[in-house]
Amino acid sequence: MLHLINVRLPIMHDHALFEVKISDGMYTSIVLQNGYLEDDDFIPLHAEILGRETFLDVQGRVLLPGFVDMHMHLDKAHSLPQVPNISGTLREAVENYSASILSFPEEELRQRMLKTALQALANGTTTIRTHIDFNCSLDEDVLFRGIQAAVEVRDELSPYMDIQVVPLFSSINPNDDLVMKKIKRAIDMEIDAIGGCPHLAPNPKLEIDTLFSLAKSYNKPLDLHVDESDDPNVDTIIYIAEKTLDYRMQRKVVVGHLCSLAGMDEGKVQKILTLIKKAEMGVVTLPAANLYLQGRQDKGIVRRGVTRIREIQDAAIPIATASDNVHDPFHPFGKADLLQIGLLTGYVAHMGSPSEQRQLLRMITSIPARLIGKMKYGVEEGNAANFVLLNVQSVEEIWTEIPETRFVFAKHRWVSVKETHQRLADNNLTALWQENQILIG
Ligand SMILES: [Zn+2]
Repeated sequence: MLHLINVRLPIMHDHALFEVKISDGMYTSIVLQNGYLEDDDFIPLHAEILGRETFLDVQGRVLLPGFVDMHMHLDKAHSLPQVPNISGTLREAVENYSASILSFPEEELRQRMLKTALQALANGTTTIRTHIDFNCSLDEDVLFRGIQAAVEVRDELSPYMDIQVVPLFSSINPNDDLVMKKIKRAIDMEIDAIGGCPHLAPNPKLEIDTLFSLAKSYNKPLDLHVDESDDPNVDTIIYIAEKTLDYRMQRKVVVGHLCSLAGMDEGKVQKILTLIKKAEMGVVTLPAANLYLQGRQDKGIVRRGVTRIREIQDAAIPIATASDNVHDPFHPFGKADLLQIGLLTGYVAHMGSPSEQRQLLRMITSIPARLIGKMKYGVEEGNAANFVLLNVQSVEEIWTEIPETRFVFAKHRWVSVKETHQRLADNNLTALWQENQILIG
């Protein structure tokens, strides 16, 4: 049981305060307050009292549903010290990582996955979908290390957060029985979707056909890396959208990256967006990795490498934003923080107006939740209470402050608290600072 007062829910209602009751891990009551409540029975929120106190005054802090990072690579995260990428290109990242994967023991993969998932949880992410490399040409003992470690981490962390596992199938040969046996064994490990990167295959159409056929026969959604290239002639998205319609897999196909869309002419872009809309596909943009990896051959004006976020939104196609890679050869930076990714999305897609700042929040919460099939998500009575409380009072402050202090609640309990404090030189400065802060404490 948890009873919160003075809660801000800015996606629902911009300036109002709410009283929120939680019981058995569910929201049981969300009531609009008549102004700020002063009640001595409610303890001001701070780290030490969490888990002990039921009645909490959150003092006007913003409460958001737990973030959904729908496209990560937990197997690769934090591997940069072992796997360099001198040129900074996607090509070198793929080559170097593929060579190194042979030497990673399962325990090391597990530890790096745990580290990254817990980093994400501390930042407010309560749901992750991770792609896991699955190059079908590898021997089984090497091939299954990543997916085995991911399934173990998923199960180990299931009392605290949700992790979906998606094998990123490559080197698929539908005529090779051994390959198809490996794929079946992977799918039988309770995976959540079928993944792939068909634009990198020698015969993309054959690989797309096989991925759709697998998705259909195992009744799984598809979540594909698509057209991660600066070349506007790379357009496997057209065939993928056509297959989605042929297979009647509307609302069951998600496509990530779509970088080449940025360089295409307007006529072709509109044709593709119409197809994506018709096929009811979802899109996820990965701006951090693509800003870093793409445009590497350009001189002078360097292409950004990020898909057409605004045009996709204007076409009423759901688009989320996600982390992709964290401190690995594909992307050396990052800390599994979706607020950092949201801010980057705001810059790269020119999304800064009041409504766009709220849309950025939807791109890391409700939109990815819908795209990965997460039911009963969001701050509503009857839904599971998964949330993050931020030390700010408005949406605008979220994006200007990127507040470090975060209180994360999921699966019936407080799962993480990260609290930062500021010390100033003397009492005079401290008093001046506090007078200008709305939050107390
Ligand atoms: Zn990816």
